[in-house]
Amino acid sequence: MSVPVPVSLADNPTDRPSPRSRPALSPSRASDFKQCPLKYRLRAIDRIPEPPSRAAVRGTVVHAVLEDLFGLPAAERDPARAALLVPDAWERVRGERDGLDELVAEGGPEALFEEVRRLVASYYELEDPRRFEPHSLEERVEVDLDGDIPLRGFVDRIDIAPNGMLRVVDYKTGRSPGPMHEARALFQLKFYALMILRTRDIVPAQLRLIYLADKILLTYTPDRAELDRFERILTALWRAIIDAGRTGDFPPTRGSMCRYCDFQHLCPEFGGTPPPYPGWPQQDSGPVPVGIPEVPPTEDI
Ligand code: SF4
Repeated sequence: MSVPVPVSLADNPTDRPSPRSRPALSPSRASDFKQCPLKYRLRAIDRIPEPPSRAAVRGTVVHAVLEDLFGLPAAERDPARAALLVPDAWERVRGERDGLDELVAEGGPEALFEEVRRLVASYYELEDPRRFEPHSLEERVEVDLDGDIPLRGFVDRIDIAPNGMLRVVDYKTGRSPGPMHEARALFQLKFYALMILRTRDIVPAQLRLIYLADKILLTYTPDRAELDRFERILTALWRAIIDAGRTGDFPPTRGSMCRYCDFQHLCPEFGGTPPPYPGWPQQDSGPVPVGIPEVPPTEDI
């Protein structure tokens, strides 16, 4: 069995602002800026702590179980064994951050375990983990695109077929996005595909999102020209972030996602006042504020 790696629920495992460091683009931070520049600022630059949600805890435990599952010999990766991995995965997640016991107080950890087991059982309806060996799990990928555009991300799983074809897999513990949110999922897939292309010089043969709640697979087959275009989109987005970082102009953009935003009390749209702008972080030290694992998007909650 592989040695468990630390898992975390968010950028900041404490209730204190995290050390400031050079921001980088991840799929979630890019989405934040597109959705609401102020939200991006408060998360990525001010690094205001956000309380974990039960959905985020459940998602993190599911990821930990699936990672541990692939640490077992293939023949032992049966559903019953997967279910037995849940308590240890929970303890591991719980050890990474204070305050999680309160989140599972209602019904106790057993209620959470049942939710996790249901999601893990759903996984078996979509893939059989006994039939393949992943190339890597929870791999941190970092690359600077031309023009000093820093991309960061964690890829849940990479599979490489005997013929060399590469597949990138990301688990979602929520439901698949409706047509309104498909673009967001596609954005994330292209982001991963571009990182793989620029770090390995391989266009992934397939990108796969696995939505466990409704047992849906969303797959995408990228091509190099499309990823080149996507790189230009990310470059423009990063330039917009840098411009805002220089001026401190991160306007709030009110929308349907505001109801899930933890920063309403700091948001002028809701009568709040943001803290003084701390300026763009200059030091490239400490944890990078990429927001990985992602705070579950709305459709995951
Ligand atoms: S409440 Fe809405 S407008 Fe305000 S920071 Fe959050 S997402 Fe932006």
